[in-house]
Amino acid sequence: MHFCPQSDCAYRGWLKLGNLRANGHPNGGPWRQFYCTSCKGYFLETHGTLFHGKQAAVERIVRVLACLAEGLGIRATSRVFEVDANTVLQWLVEAAEQLRAFAAYFLCELHLEQLQLDEVYAVLRAFKAGAISDKEAIKRLERSPCWVWTAMDPASKLLVVVDIGSRTLAMAQRVVHQVTEVVAPGCVPLFLTDGLKDYATALLTHYGYWRQPERRQDKGPMPKPRWMPLPALRYAQVVKSYRRRRIVGVKHRVVFGSWLAIEQVLATCGWTINTAFVERLNLDIRQRVAAIGRRVNTVCQGEAGLRDQLTLFQVYHNFVFPHASLRQACAEPMATAGRGSAKRWRPCTPAMAAGLTDHVWSLKEVLLYRVPPWPQPQVR
Ligand SMILES: [Zn+2]
Repeated sequence: MHFCPQSDCAYRGWLKLGNLRANGHPNGGPWRQFYCTSCKGYFLETHGTLFHGKQAAVERIVRVLACLAEGLGIRATSRVFEVDANTVLQWLVEAAEQLRAFAAYFLCELHLEQLQLDEVYAVLRAFKAGAISDKEAIKRLERSPCWVWTAMDPASKLLVVVDIGSRTLAMAQRVVHQVTEVVAPGCVPLFLTDGLKDYATALLTHYGYWRQPERRQDKGPMPKPRWMPLPALRYAQVVKSYRRRRIVGVKHRVVFGSWLAIEQVLATCGWTINTAFVERLNLDIRQRVAAIGRRVNTVCQGEAGLRDQLTLFQVYHNFVFPHASLRQACAEPMATAGRGSAKRWRPCTPAMAAGLTDHVWSLKEVLLYRVPPWPQPQVR
């Protein structure tokens, strides 16, 4: 997982080229040093990570970030560990920068059958329930930047995109654009969303093509070409109607593609048209991202702080936290150390289910991962 970071080195950023030699622990420090035989340079195994040049103990930083990932607020975390709140925030900011690169490195060329997209408001609880009407609350929030947009694969539970912004067409476009950036070329998943009409426009923008209509008569000008949805595009909405915050009706609407084609994709999983999985995920986000779940009273109130917490959530959810519904039965029960009953299940994370990695990562492992500056050619 190591690469030479020297900018003038011919081997810079490339993995497994045999140019690195372990060079012991300088001054008896905790980290190994590497020597690059190409540029004759030295670097530490923490180069480019959060731990580089930090005096604080690694375990402490990892536990603080794990606490944030589990949903404790910044102030509460700072009290638990008796670390200054601004230090906690600083670690979060640095970790998030690294984790964004980590997520971008692993989430690419995905082959997805389906995607569920949703938006969740970040501060609705700031209004006391019933103090203002739903319409009023939505109207006030519509223009606020505090909507969390998510796109997830319901089969692997992989959180593919998480972003924040207003509830507008521009944001829908941005989210769909991010989806197209991470899925494999030519892959058009089945899209399922709530009733927000901007998704249809955004999907048509990204999954469309120019079609030349046929001339009606032998002579005369050619008709203008029209922008049409790709034949592979399938998109359905789950439209819920509310009265006093209670769901009073659910309708399914097929926007692109046919009912039959959409039902065929879902039938392989035994599902019907739904957005239940992304809604469940949003509940997790509410519980795990302190700034969203509760009335905001933390150091990190701004959009940037919320974005950093969401990045931490995304990586933690995808790589670190095994998902109960994804666990795989062991072929044979495995004996555990001690007197516990035999292990029957192998824990599985969304990233494992999506085939991005073969093991459950620890948060420490994630934070120590030096993300190469570019994707490496696949060796298969
Ligand atoms: Zn080098």
